[in-house]
Amino acid sequence: MASEVLKYDVAIVGLGPAGSSLAYLLKDSGLRVVGLEVSGPGRVWGKPCGDAIGKQHFIETGLPFPQGEALMQVVDAIDIYSPSEEVKIRLKEPGGGFMIDRTKYGLSLLREAEKKGVDVMLETHVLAPVLENGKLVGVRAKRKSDGKTIIVKANVVVDATGSGGAVKRKLPDEWPVKEPLRETDSAVAFRKIIEVDYDIEEPNVIRIYINEKIAPGGYWWFFPKGRNIANVGLGVQRGRGYPHPRLLYEKYLEARREVKPVRVLNEAGALLPTRRPANTLVWHNFISIGDNGYTVNPLHGGGMGYAMVAAKHAAEAIIRAHEVGDFSASTLWLANIRYMRGLGAKQAGLDILRMYLQTLSNEEVEWAMKTGLANVENLIETSLTGELRGVNLSLLDKAKVLASLLKRPTKLVQLLTVGEYMSRVKRLYKEYPEKPEDLPKWVDRVESLYREFKKRIGIDW
Ligand SMILES: Cc1cc2nc3c(=O)[nH]c(=O)nc-3n(C[C@H](O)[C@H](O)[C@H](O)COP(=O)(O)OP(=O)(O)OC[C@H]3O[C@@H](n4cnc5c(N)ncnc54)[C@H](O)[C@@H]3O)c2cc1C
Repeated sequence: MASEVLKYDVAIVGLGPAGSSLAYLLKDSGLRVVGLEVSGPGRVWGKPCGDAIGKQHFIETGLPFPQGEALMQVVDAIDIYSPSEEVKIRLKEPGGGFMIDRTKYGLSLLREAEKKGVDVMLETHVLAPVLENGKLVGVRAKRKSDGKTIIVKANVVVDATGSGGAVKRKLPDEWPVKEPLRETDSAVAFRKIIEVDYDIEEPNVIRIYINEKIAPGGYWWFFPKGRNIANVGLGVQRGRGYPHPRLLYEKYLEARREVKPVRVLNEAGALLPTRRPANTLVWHNFISIGDNGYTVNPLHGGGMGYAMVAAKHAAEAIIRAHEVGDFSASTLWLANIRYMRGLGAKQAGLDILRMYLQTLSNEEVEWAMKTGLANVENLIETSLTGELRGVNLSLLDKAKVLASLLKRPTKLVQLLTVGEYMSRVKRLYKEYPEKPEDLPKWVDRVESLYREFKKRIGIDW
């Protein structure tokens, strides 16, 4: 028997942070939108996460702030600890972030979208894209409720299925959106949500610990979700032979008093991209957002806020495409231009910094944090603007830092190099091409800049 065929303007595949944000942002567009998600309601936004998100992403996208049970803790500061834990840098921003219950927040977005006519199909597993004469026209999916296979046709298909890439993975190889993820540009992270038998001091402060022994190429974290619950985990760079983070968690973190649980509420691990955005988020009739399009913060791996911003630009491009009745890469390109020249430029700058930080030993990090080279202003600026502004002449004027740097001339040169390449890559992203035809030339420029940077720093991975 032939499969049931459903017709929409937009099919969003995957309803995690990226897909459900897009569903929400399209709810008033007047377009016929469907969201397809393999999980059931109890597992919406079910990917393991640190659950921390900055307030600015909600302001930037117009998505509602988490409230009620979805908001577990307001975050007023981030403490960053050196490897010895002797140096602590506090980044204060009262009310600057939230610890959320992902499933509750995700469901609230989907409910609002549904009220305005978006069709939300949970427990629906998307199996593959449907191509007719080389054109993407929809997806094939299997519904759990009746076990039937359905064809969902749409003008635009959005892959928001995270690293798995249910649609993107099966597109023709020559489509430029099918850019693979290198192992060393990604991490595997593992976390537990634990209940503890003591009152967590300052639950409004989330803690990040840099220590290459415990979390090689990443960091470990302790994020309170109220007085007695914490999200504790660690991320490790892939492709360099490091142990799995679960083993490192058991070896190093379980021994710590503050990490001893009375109850483990959940534990799981997953892969996350930690790189610049994919060269293009769109192709004909297709958009890729969230982890699927590598729209993440490469420095700390936070992807929820970046997914929301990518969803916002995807929504703008989808609405524009329907206004003009053209769903080709040229029209959807608007999402690329807005993302790459905005947040994408910052992301690419942070990617350069991320690679450099992954070359540092514990001793070097300790030194940088002690000398004040990684001081508060510097870190805040870097995380907000993507520019390593601390490494400039005014900072070098500070005698203490200069004296310390002169003892490590290689590190001084490298830091200046990092600052230079961060600026250069950002400039390149601000010159993101106007049209798809110019993409290959631009990609060559980006790739050669990265090659040059890696050579100068001595990165061979
Ligand atoms: C341990 C860990 C800690 C992290 N900590 C943080 C943090 O504190 N803050 C932060 O901002 N980010 C954090 N991240 C990253 C963050 O979790 C991701 O960037 C974010 O979830 C990406 O959202 P997404 O919607 O793109 O993808 P996902 O969250 O992966 O959602 C994809 C959705 O698609 C669905 N799907 C997949 N395949 C199919 C299919 N074939 N058919 C239908 N549906 C499908 C999935 O079920 C899922 O619901 C962390 C990641 C990890 C692994």
